[in-house]
Amino acid sequence: MGKLLDRLEAAPVLCAEGYLFELERRGYLSAGGFVPEVVLDHPEAVAQLHRDFLRAGSDVMVAFTYYAHREKMRIVGKEQLIEPLQKNALALAKAAVEEAEGEKPLVAGNICNTNIYFPDDKQSHLEARKMFDEQIGWAAEAGVDFIIAETFSWHGEALIALESAKALGLDVVVNVVSHSTGLLREQMTPADSCKGLEAAGAAVVGMNCCRGPATMYPQLLEIRAAVSCPVAGIPVPFRTDSAHPSFQSLEDNAHACGCLPEGMRPFPVALDGLACTRYEMAEFAKNCVENGIALVGVCCGGGPHHVRAMAEALGRRPPASKYSPDMSKHYALGDDPSLKQENRDFVGSI
Ligand SMILES: [Zn+2]
Repeated sequence: MGKLLDRLEAAPVLCAEGYLFELERRGYLSAGGFVPEVVLDHPEAVAQLHRDFLRAGSDVMVAFTYYAHREKMRIVGKEQLIEPLQKNALALAKAAVEEAEGEKPLVAGNICNTNIYFPDDKQSHLEARKMFDEQIGWAAEAGVDFIIAETFSWHGEALIALESAKALGLDVVVNVVSHSTGLLREQMTPADSCKGLEAAGAAVVGMNCCRGPATMYPQLLEIRAAVSCPVAGIPVPFRTDSAHPSFQSLEDNAHACGCLPEGMRPFPVALDGLACTRYEMAEFAKNCVENGIALVGVCCGGGPHHVRAMAEALGRRPPASKYSPDMSKHYALGDDPSLKQENRDFVGSI
């Protein structure tokens, strides 16, 4: 049994993701292409975000190689930089773990949808396999603890990624995506896909990205009922609902700012008014763990404040909990006896 399964047997595992969105917000990569150029251009920004997630209680440092594959690097004209970028991303995740006090987080290598795979194009299967193999090779060289293969909306592509990652002999987590239809692109349910992935040798199966807690959770329960291996649930922290099951389909209606450029939807850079609070993510984590979904996390849009609240919901007190909210000390809302009564009386007016 690999290191991840060992940990999952002992306790739930919390996994912070969402590096693309957070580093886009911080001004280090561009929305649209979503290529992690920041790994080479500003490695200190990636190192800081690893540190932030670590302090917030993530049990896993995911190497920021998401979308650092040949197809994405080609789009930004940097295909020749793929190897140094991948190696640097793996080194940054490992260095972050070295900083951890107490039990060390696990380091995960990361592969994802290639955007070149199509079921009827057999050549694309070979090309996708090649893209996975080279990334898995670098992850193996770096000595990762396990592999996360994620964001697959094609079941067939997820199987190819799993085959590639399994060659390492490490635990492989495979996460699929269902967009607005609730199905993978082969018209398969996530539960059926996960059943197939478990049979093909995945150590953990589940879902990540695209759906918020409200629309991912019911599908996670279906997966839980369909498989016997551990299940992963890593949603985006946005208020998706039955009319808008994916964050790509969210509309700017409930809290319209009225200032989005013509034809623009909130996804991906104007979702702020549709975000989940830390309390919603904490509740998601708690519900998951109570219902047998043992690997929980947050994807695109997640920040350290979500991760800390989720860790605390699991009964933990990560380093960042030193600064968790303490509203008893607020000048007007607080109840600390040393506060000025004049300000406390003002509370109805703030
Ligand atoms: Zn995501």
